[in-house]
Amino acid sequence: MPDIFCKIIKGEIPADKVYEDDFVLAFPDIHPIAPVHVLIIPKKHIKSINDLEDSDIETMGHMFLAAKKVAADLGIAEKGYKLLIRTGRDGGQEVPHIHMHLLGGARLREDIGPVR
Ligand code: 5GP
Repeated sequence: MPDIFCKIIKGEIPADKVYEDDFVLAFPDIHPIAPVHVLIIPKKHIKSINDLEDSDIETMGHMFLAAKKVAADLGIAEKGYKLLIRTGRDGGQEVPHIHMHLLGGARLREDIGPVR
């Protein structure tokens, strides 16, 4: 079964693109947790960071460059932002397709810790 982000890449599910190149796509998260919450995903289906191969180095480079461009375009580059990639169950990953959360537009809390 194709994951939800593969469907967005194919245009089967709509998303408001804020950035696209040959390697990556960026669009707002459907449930934002910050004033700016954009997801940056590779167009190649890669399940998680654990599944990266040496040949994915260019794709991952484009993910970070896309984050830089989107942050600048959305006016949050100077004040700063967070980039988050969840991996696997303990990391809280829900969608099995690598995605980078670009979070900003406000000072963000630091509340990562073990679930109690
Ligand atoms: P994860 O918890 O795997 O790191 O993050 C998955 C993210 O994908 C969540 O923040 C969730 O709100 C977002 N998401 C899930 N389905 C969709 C969708 O169909 N469209 C968009 N734009 N975001 C989605």
